[in-house]
Amino acid sequence: MSDQVLESRNPATGEVVGQVPVTPPAAIAGIVARARAAQPAWADLGVGGRAEMLRRAGAVMVERADELGKLLTLEMGKPLAEAVGEVRSCGEDTPDVLAEVAEAVAPEVLEDERVRSTIYRDPYGVCAAITPWNFPFSMPHWLVLPALATGNTVVLKPSEETPLIGQAYADLVAGVLPAGVLQVVHGDEVQGSALVAADIDLIAFTGSRAAGKHILTAAADRLKRVILELGGKDPLIVLDDADLDRAARFAARNSFRNAGQVCVATERIYVSEAVADAFVERLVKETGAFVTGSGLDAATRVGPMISAGQRDRVLGLVDQAVSAGAVVATGGQGHHGNFVMPTVLTGVRPDMAIAREETFGPVACVTAVRDDEEAVALANDTPFGLGAVVFGGDPARTERVARRLQAGMIGINQSIGGAKGSPWVGARESGYGFHSSRDGHRQFTQTRVVSQPRVAAP
Ligand code: NAD
Repeated sequence: MSDQVLESRNPATGEVVGQVPVTPPAAIAGIVARARAAQPAWADLGVGGRAEMLRRAGAVMVERADELGKLLTLEMGKPLAEAVGEVRSCGEDTPDVLAEVAEAVAPEVLEDERVRSTIYRDPYGVCAAITPWNFPFSMPHWLVLPALATGNTVVLKPSEETPLIGQAYADLVAGVLPAGVLQVVHGDEVQGSALVAADIDLIAFTGSRAAGKHILTAAADRLKRVILELGGKDPLIVLDDADLDRAARFAARNSFRNAGQVCVATERIYVSEAVADAFVERLVKETGAFVTGSGLDAATRVGPMISAGQRDRVLGLVDQAVSAGAVVATGGQGHHGNFVMPTVLTGVRPDMAIAREETFGPVACVTAVRDDEEAVALANDTPFGLGAVVFGGDPARTERVARRLQAGMIGINQSIGGAKGSPWVGARESGYGFHSSRDGHRQFTQTRVVSQPRVAAP
């Protein structure tokens, strides 16, 4: 990145895909002032008026999913079908999210013998949305849509790794809105920090734990509202009575999807020692189906790491673990360019860096455990707490294990994906506040209670 231009490169080939102008930090105050000036009229449209415009944006996402999905793959690397699916699902979900927001902000009336109170959920004002590169269309959408629908105006700073798809998202949505309601700032943490320090009311952030901590500290100065969705180190527990075929299929998919660059990827697997060999055998077999290559090839299921730096980090963690005694069951090396082979490591110990730091690569780390007690203790032995999954046969035992896991989203014999209307929420250092769901949408609003004496009945 130069001072003027942010160049975006295809992580599969290194070729330049395009560029955007970097936002000078000094320009951010003016952008935020424009957002503030646009906000009252946007709020005055009411939740119905805003939703009518935003529904159009959702429809355009569906119409343009193929074209935008291709740009997403070129810039970020994931398989084309997943990229198109990411864009399309954002568009398809938009009407439901808007209906949920309308429900979340509808005034509520409470009465007792003396007082009648109305609880309003009003917009904060100007929201900064700061987002990562791993789902570069849906991460902006998950924050921008509720922020706008609740009546805030938004300044979006997409990741410096994926500015083109970030700009395309903003152009599409801003294209159906009044001027100033959604604007973009481009750059890295310099622009991100400047935006956090600017005259904004709410910061909605998805990204790493380290950046989240900086933001929370910076926001404390004016007690700006903050929603943080941060990194994870999700465990999978496989009990001795689990369906091992299903558990291994899940483990492979959830460790290697998006080349492991998923906040709720399975990064640690604790399997009962009684079935560990049988499970690993199945996991290695499943891993064979994960073809590595360009996201534009139909057969590809694992694309590149986002950058050479990320590839080196992942391979460094693997090498370190192997030097400390972990065993490569499959993979374990780079492929070509920024690619990393889907890897299964066994004999991973809790003190290894790969068992503690977020890897964000296609590496499944297996540790055999004596019993449920040890599995739960190890699963909870990190500061993270985003997702966790347990596979088991006996429903009562499996649920008992699940309820002891220190995570915000827990799956039993399935992924962490909740029913429609569920929140997206991290526990411990994986999150601060949360989004999605009726309660999640309310976090983009200031609650106000207006009370008056009840008029006595004539
Ligand atoms: P990152 O924290 O490096 O960057 C995220 C965004 O924040 C980028 O736009 C970046 O420019 C900006 N930024 C960085 N430092 C900042 C600062 N001090 N002040 C303001 N802005 C700053 O994260 P990344 O590498 O883009 O994304 C990967 C991380 O995101 C992983 O940790 C992953 O687990 C996490 N993530 C979490 C979720 C979730 O829902 N919990 C979803 C996706 C990704």
